[in-house]
Amino acid sequence: MILHDEPMSRHVSWRAGGPARRACAPRDIDDLQDFLRGLPASEPVLFVGLGSNLLVRDGGYPGTVVLMHHAHAAARVEGDEIFASARLASPKLARFAANEGLKGSEFLAGVPGTVGGALAMNAGCYGSETWDAVTRVQTIDRHGTLRVRSRSEYDIGYRRCVLRGAGPVSSEADDGGDAAAPGEWFTGAWFRFARGSAAAARMHIRDLLARRVASQPLNLPNAGSVFRNPPQDFAARLIESCGLKGFGIGGARVSEKHANFIVNPGGRGSAADIEALIVHVQRVVFELRGVELIREVRIVGEPPAGAGEAERSDAAEDDSGQRNEPGAAGWFDARQEARRRQA
Ligand SMILES: Cc1cc2nc3c(=O)[nH]c(=O)nc-3n(C[C@H](O)[C@H](O)[C@H](O)COP(=O)(O)OP(=O)(O)OC[C@H]3O[C@@H](n4cnc5c(N)ncnc54)[C@H](O)[C@@H]3O)c2cc1C
Repeated sequence: MILHDEPMSRHVSWRAGGPARRACAPRDIDDLQDFLRGLPASEPVLFVGLGSNLLVRDGGYPGTVVLMHHAHAAARVEGDEIFASARLASPKLARFAANEGLKGSEFLAGVPGTVGGALAMNAGCYGSETWDAVTRVQTIDRHGTLRVRSRSEYDIGYRRCVLRGAGPVSSEADDGGDAAAPGEWFTGAWFRFARGSAAAARMHIRDLLARRVASQPLNLPNAGSVFRNPPQDFAARLIESCGLKGFGIGGARVSEKHANFIVNPGGRGSAADIEALIVHVQRVVFELRGVELIREVRIVGEPPAGAGEAERSDAAEDDSGQRNEPGAAGWFDARQEARRRQA
């Protein structure tokens, strides 16, 4: 199914942002292969799972979005491994593995994305990461070609996954485009979890979910942790220590419950509000604590039509691979200067 000018606010958990010029929700892998084969080589492509780590700017995505989440996607046992479709919601994989008497996937029960998104982000929490248990992945490229790749073909790190030897990752890729490799995306993965007890795994899932309910603003639109934790510290602690809890721009505000979450009550904030708040938090934490917070959430797309040319030219790439946001030029210069002094 092809949709035109599809509002991405319907497909991201922040409930904000502009339209995709085209969006495709493939029925199955054959349909996805046919669709990709028919695309012009120059067409920008963005794979989206459940949009739980993604912001599309208000001017929209100037290309084709592939909506990967599928309610009927499944996992299956294959020997001593589990194969999970990239289209499956991660919490379903956690429950499937637990019911099979396997342990190690429980943390995924609280990560509200797809398996594809978890692979692309190397999603993790409570001491576990997605790639800990991955043995192989299945990928698809722009020509619709399916491949099986081993874990060792990827450079895996904290919220990071890049195909080795794929050349420099494009700025768009770094900023939320093709996390697997430019022009290649995940369609499934094989996981090897340790044997355990189904009852213990289900209990563990219940405990982890209770911890989330107690500490995260799950009743308001959000995209999880906005920033990566800096080494030996916590982004939430730094943000809170700068007095930013509850601070808002437009409809977006820093959560009172968890300072590393930005919430968008009622979906009233725009993507620009959210992005401006992200930049503000980065700037204040840098100025007051000297720590450069690196974004975990991906931001893609165009500023809205009418955003001035000056703003557009400010939105250049900085050397950490992130966008130097509109209006943040002074702050960017200050960071550059601080780095020069440190060097
Ligand atoms: C309440 C809440 C709690 C969260 N808790 C955690 C947590 O504990 N730990 C954590 O790590 N994250 C957490 N997140 C963030 C998010 O859920 C994870 O990053 C998740 O894995 C993203 O999956 P997704 O399908 O929603 O990806 P999306 O947001 O749709 O996409 C994220 C990135 O992955 C790429 N991508 C998506 N699918 C594919 C694919 N098939 N192939 C290649 N690239 C793809 C996209 O292009 C984009 O760059 C949380 C989010 C929320 C809202």
